[in-house]
Amino acid sequence: MHVGEPDRRGGDLRAAQRHRRRPRLRLGPFPDGQRWATVRRIHEVQRTVTEMMMRIAIAGGGLGGLTLARILHRHGIDAVVYEREAGRSARSQGGSLDLHPESGQQALADAGLAGRFRSEARPEGEEHRILDPAGRTLVHHMPQPGSFSGRPEIDRSALRDLLLDSLPGDAVAWQHRLVAATPRPDGGFGLTFDGGHGADCDVLIGADGARSVVRSLLTDATLSSVATLVELSISDADRRHPDLADLVGPGNLWCIGVNQILAAQRLGDGSIRVGISLPADDRHLDTYRSKRALLDMFDGWNPSLTALIEAGDSPPTPRRIEAMPTGTRWAHQPGITLIGDAAHLMPPVGEGANQAMLDAAELAAELATNPADPDSAIRAYEEAMFTRTHPIAEMSARVQAMMLSPTAADDIIRFFTPRPTEPAPAD
Ligand SMILES: Cc1cc2nc3c(=O)[nH]c(=O)nc-3n(C[C@H](O)[C@H](O)[C@H](O)COP(=O)(O)OP(=O)(O)OC[C@H]3O[C@@H](n4cnc5c(N)ncnc54)[C@H](O)[C@@H]3O)c2cc1C
Repeated sequence: MHVGEPDRRGGDLRAAQRHRRRPRLRLGPFPDGQRWATVRRIHEVQRTVTEMMMRIAIAGGGLGGLTLARILHRHGIDAVVYEREAGRSARSQGGSLDLHPESGQQALADAGLAGRFRSEARPEGEEHRILDPAGRTLVHHMPQPGSFSGRPEIDRSALRDLLLDSLPGDAVAWQHRLVAATPRPDGGFGLTFDGGHGADCDVLIGADGARSVVRSLLTDATLSSVATLVELSISDADRRHPDLADLVGPGNLWCIGVNQILAAQRLGDGSIRVGISLPADDRHLDTYRSKRALLDMFDGWNPSLTALIEAGDSPPTPRRIEAMPTGTRWAHQPGITLIGDAAHLMPPVGEGANQAMLDAAELAAELATNPADPDSAIRAYEEAMFTRTHPIAEMSARVQAMMLSPTAADDIIRFFTPRPTEPAPAD
């Protein structure tokens, strides 16, 4: 479907669902007299099933939205994902993510994709090194070789492809940027997309990320800047920059200074993604678009580290990193909810994608358990999600503040050094 074309997905979807999901109940041998009562009962059941079919719209085809669509699909529940991008390769998906066993990996297991994840993921990517500005190693963590019990890394693009490949071809409506959702008097929402075309749905799930449009229907929480991130990419690192490839290793490198971090991450395609984190400030982002300006900020650092900035293939790309107030919640409203960054945008310290995918798995499980009553399903999901994510958002805010503090190096060594176990209290 293209922009400008009338959007008849809502109607088509309902018809398709009716056709596909009508249960085929077999008539067994009945004693005389019970047969017609049974046939009537079957018709009643079929009518109920038809009535309870909901048209589910998911705004946003990121990790959360696609995981949700996939798990619903496994339960025989169709949903349409409306994604603003023009196609799966319209934009670079960014770096690599570590998926945690209890959240991201659990969601992939619920999606029936654990096997494919293992074939795409890089357990060795869990290795990380922490250095000071002089290049001295403060921490060097080596994972168990080949083990998936920790937090293996996977490129975002590989993870997104894995989810997209698991969905029917028409599950994602590309080039559908949601601009407004309007509650309908009889329930559900009318959706308006960029370009003016529209669709209807009974249940709307906002999986539309940090700058969610759907969020404003539930909460007026505003975002605040928590950092500035400047990114560069170094392609074909092993061949073109073997010293830097050695320095970064197979996983992540963090060089911790005073109020500034120079980080680098190995991707599955052999490139290195470099990220410079700085405290949030009011300076224009253009300030950070030249390598020269960045190198001046890292004056006095070991040149073997700042070589990561010099080796960048193209000009640096800066952006503001934002977060929602921790503990944001909203009063339940019928037929609508949020998952992922739309629900709980937190500083990027390794939890956002994992929680987005777990949100998706938990919401899908509630909807599948209670398909006739989506509002109860949403209410149960929201309560559990608020309770789960609140402490994680608090921890993420604390770690973010610690990483960009003047005492970051000491704090981080303490963070990674196991505490001696306390002697058991005497009886
Ligand atoms: C630098 C950085 C590093 C990170 N590293 C990690 C990490 O290591 N581990 C981790 O767990 N998390 C990490 N995160 C956080 C993680 O990226 C997010 O929490 C995660 O992507 C959230 O998933 P989501 O599906 O909610 O949103 P997104 O992945 O942002 O997906 C939202 C989707 O919605 C689409 N969209 C947006 N608006 C609209 C609209 N109006 N209409 C239709 N579609 C729309 C977007 O195009 C996008 O496809 C990191 C974040 C950053 C910034």
